[in-house]
Amino acid sequence: MQQLEALTREARALASGELPLSAHESEVARQMQICNACRYCEGFCAVFPAMTRHLEFGKADIHYLANLCHNCGACLHACQYAPPHEFAVNVPQAMAQVRGQTYADYAWPPALGALYQRQGLTLALALSGALALFLVLAIGLNGPLWHASLAGNFYAIFPHNLLVGMFAPIFLFAALALGMGVRRFWRDVSPAASSALGEAAVEAGAAALRLKYLDGSNQTNTDEPAEGCPNSDDAPTLWRRRFHHLTFYGFMLCFAATSVATLYHYLLNWQAPYAYTSLPVLLGTVGGLGLLVGPAGLLWLNLRRHPSHGDATQKPMDRGFIVLLFLVSLTGLVLLAWRDTPAMAVLLAVHLGTVMALFLTLPYGKFAHGIYRCAALLKFSIEKRQPMQLALPEA
Ligand code: SF4
Ligand code: SF4
Repeated sequence: MQQLEALTREARALASGELPLSAHESEVARQMQICNACRYCEGFCAVFPAMTRHLEFGKADIHYLANLCHNCGACLHACQYAPPHEFAVNVPQAMAQVRGQTYADYAWPPALGALYQRQGLTLALALSGALALFLVLAIGLNGPLWHASLAGNFYAIFPHNLLVGMFAPIFLFAALALGMGVRRFWRDVSPAASSALGEAAVEAGAAALRLKYLDGSNQTNTDEPAEGCPNSDDAPTLWRRRFHHLTFYGFMLCFAATSVATLYHYLLNWQAPYAYTSLPVLLGTVGGLGLLVGPAGLLWLNLRRHPSHGDATQKPMDRGFIVLLFLVSLTGLVLLAWRDTPAMAVLLAVHLGTVMALFLTLPYGKFAHGIYRCAALLKFSIEKRQPMQLALPEA
């Protein structure tokens, strides 16, 4: 019966000129048909109300729903049709499998997306190690690695213009690759233009910044307290949301620290190193602590995750991103603490190597999901302001 349904869907897709669904996409389509009839979970997150706007699920609909899901696991623990039931409904896992596929499908250049998906952790560690080693060797070839204190003057090791020359192409590459990916994703999934775009964008931005759907609250019954989502068992926890917030806002504070330092340099002609009490150092220290605790907590939760949640094959990619974030923060804080010692040159090289590796791999893993998820939330906010247009599929 399931095979017949899959063949029918494939025949319809071919007839309409769409690419046929992959095995993972067909599985999401199958499960969404069951959920659409059941609708028990419609208050859990945005996926289920978005699903009810469809009777059939094409490739673009499935990519959209997969990136709207943030793998909280709540619907699996509530589902009366979850394995060992013969319907074998496991929405978080089916969505995660398609989501992983979208990272590679929309990645630019695609070959890098596929490589990172297979070998995320190894690639992240190898890249940061190789870049750090390269920078250590570069310093060693031009002078002593271990020298008298330079009072935190990084530019005595790498002149300012050399640092800009090294990092600007990497930042531009990461921005271009992410931009190309999200442009292709949006072109595939975007709804018709809406007159309420501004209002929808504000709502989607607030949902993303608050991680609204990770708090476990019932969207249709606001009297129920927000208890978080299940992790290692079906007991809810808010720690996943808290660690995500620490990571995200830690990253943003570090970004703000770099931006303020850039303004100091170019607008005010105030040269680094800056005092421990200066704004860039304070922002970087607070952000760095958030970026240390957040990823450490996310890794701890990831290692304890219920085996039925998500897609086990994506764990190396997820852990690669988390470990790189942690290393960027750890090496940055260690560099700050020891910047007045003879170890500064080596610590600086190791920190710069991990930062470069992080930005080179940003477009291919979890960070890309954050961008696609914001796009999916925007589509959800636009779509819910439009009238429901359900049409029965052609026979
Ligand atoms: S996940 Fe299970 S309980 Fe929830 S809507 Fe789907 S079939 Fe129903
Ligand atoms: S795993 Fe969570 S976010 Fe994903 S569909 Fe289920 S309830 Fe929604």
